[in-house]
This record gives sequence, C-alpha cells and structure tokens, in this order.
Amino acid sequence: AKETGRNNFQFYTSSMNERAMERLRLEGDLRNAVERGEFVLHYQPQVSVDNNQVVGVEALIRWQHPTLGLVSPARFIQIAEEMGLIVPIGAWVMRTACRQSMAWQREGYGEVRVAVNLSARQFYQQDLATTIFDILQETGLPPHLLELELTESMMMADVEHAALLLRKLKTLGVQLSIDDFGTGYSSLAYLKRFPIDLLKIDQSFVRDITVDPDDAAIVTSIISLAHSLRLDVIAEGVETEAQLAYLRRHGCDYMQGYYFSRPVPAPEVAHMLTQRKER
Ligand code: C2E
Ligand code: CA
Ligand code: CA
Ligand code: CA
Repeated sequence: AKETGRNNFQFYTSSMNERAMERLRLEGDLRNAVERGEFVLHYQPQVSVDNNQVVGVEALIRWQHPTLGLVSPARFIQIAEEMGLIVPIGAWVMRTACRQSMAWQREGYGEVRVAVNLSARQFYQQDLATTIFDILQETGLPPHLLELELTESMMMADVEHAALLLRKLKTLGVQLSIDDFGTGYSSLAYLKRFPIDLLKIDQSFVRDITVDPDDAAIVTSIISLAHSLRLDVIAEGVETEAQLAYLRRHGCDYMQGYYFSRPVPAPEVAHMLTQRKER
C-alpha cells in the first residue's frame, strides 16, 4: 500500500479539486437559477393502502441546468442551504406546489394533497408562518391540502423551537408530517408534544423489511406507535410487491415509492389521477 500512497494522494487531490470546482460552479449558477426559472417540481404519488388510490403527492425539486441537465436535489440542496438561497427556493417550491394542486382541482381531479419538504434554514426562518399564510392566500389552496414535511433530526435538534413552530404552523390549518422517521432517535414523550398528523417511515427501514427481522420489527413498532398516538403512517421507498404486502398486513395507511411511481412531471401525475376519477 505504501508504494501506491503517492498515486493515491494525487488521485485524491485531483478529485477534491474537481469537487471544489463543481461546487464553485454550482454556487455561481444557483444564484441566478430562481430568476431564470430553472427549477422544476416533480411529484411522487402517495397511495392509500386500503384502495390503491392516489391521495396526494410529494413535491420534489429538480434543477434544469443549462449545460449539466437535470440536477438532483442531493447535489444542490445542501449548497443552497449554506448560501441561504434555500429560503427563496423553498418559497418558490411551496407556491408552485400549491398552484399545481389548485390546477388539478380546477381540471376536475378533486382534492390532491401536496407535501413539500422544509429545510433546516426554513425551520429557523422568522417569517416562515407568514410566508406560508401569504402563499395560501395568493393561491387559494385550502390549507388542509398543504402538508409540510419536517425531518425528525431537524426537530430533535431543537425540540423547544420545534414545539413552538409546529403549534404556530398548525394554526394555519396545514398538515404536518415527520420525515425520515426512525433515524433521529425521537423520544416518545416529544412526539406527544408535537401537533403532527403523519409519520413517514424512512426508506432505509422499508428496504429490507422482508429480509431483515430487525427492520421489520422497527417498522411494525413505528406503525403501532403512530396509531396509538392517533397519527397516520406512510412508508416511503416501497419498491416491491412483497414490501407492499408486508405493510398492508401490518396496517400501514399510505405508501410511496418506485413500485407505484417515480417522481414525475405534473402531467404524468394527472394521468394517474384520471385513473382515480374513473373508478
Ligand atoms: P426525501 O424528502 O426523503 O425524499 C425521498 C427521496 O427518495 C426522493 O429523492 C425520492 O425520489 C426518492 N424515492 C422515492 N421513492 C423511492 C424508492 O422506491 N426507492 C428509492 N431508492 N428512492 C425513492 P430525491 O427526489 O432525489 O430527493 C432527495 C432529497 O432531497 C429529499 O429526500 C429531500 O430531503 C431533498 N429535497 C427534495 N426536494 C426538496 C425541496 O423542494 N426542498 C428541500 N428543502 N429539500 C428537498
Ligand atoms: Ca420528504
Ligand atoms: Ca424521507
Ligand atoms: Ca390524524
């Protein structure tokens, strides 16, 4: 290993340089991406376990970069967060998702609940509730059709703040869910203090649900915990029939994952809502 040390070193420096270069470039381009209208939302259906109907969608952002193509949020959300740009981007996401749900309603697809992700920066944004209130007013979306996803780790990092903020958001009439649940070491006592509606079981537990008894046990306990607190549960990352069957057998309420659909542009969601309309 000693002899290759030097080559490894060169390899790492050049790949570090590449990453630094990419980051610099993305930073520069991100500043103008909002005004240039380069962001798009894809929507992933959330399906009711009872009847396989699409009850809502999660809005997931993508960046249509002029030369890099479609850039995934994993590559730019963190950077946008550090630059503070996530606040205007987050407001754009919310406004666009609310408008889209209204558009589906106007087109006769009925009520489509739309979930948006909140970043840590928004979690601490002073005027977050006001921003959301304004967007609801402006778009006319009934508040119960907007769902805000906050990650468990974000909430556990500051439970006092989380309790205050969630109570404030709840007065707007929106739905609140805890994302990536099971990864952030929630204490049950805290869960009871938060006015939340929905737990989202993290996909890392769903993945091996049918092969790993520990993951299966975690998932079934999350479901019964949620139900005893009168919360609904949604499993994310559902990819197979076997996972679906397991979740159905254990009383999970909703599912989301590639098994049903990848996140897709709005017109493709309309297609899935059409099937719902025809039932
Ligand atoms: P997340 O909120 O946990 O979203 C779920 C991610 O899992 C999405 O990745 C989704 O495409 C992917 N996924 C869905 N079903 C499956 C499946 O069956 N199998 C597998 N392997 N993956 C599945 P995506 O769209 O790349 O988003 C990644 C993360 O970026 C999101 O994780 C979220 O934390 C963040 N993000 C996305 N959009 C936004 C946004 O508008 N605002 C903020 N703040 N963060 C966002
Ligand atoms: Ca999410
Ligand atoms: Ca998640
Ligand atoms: Ca409920």
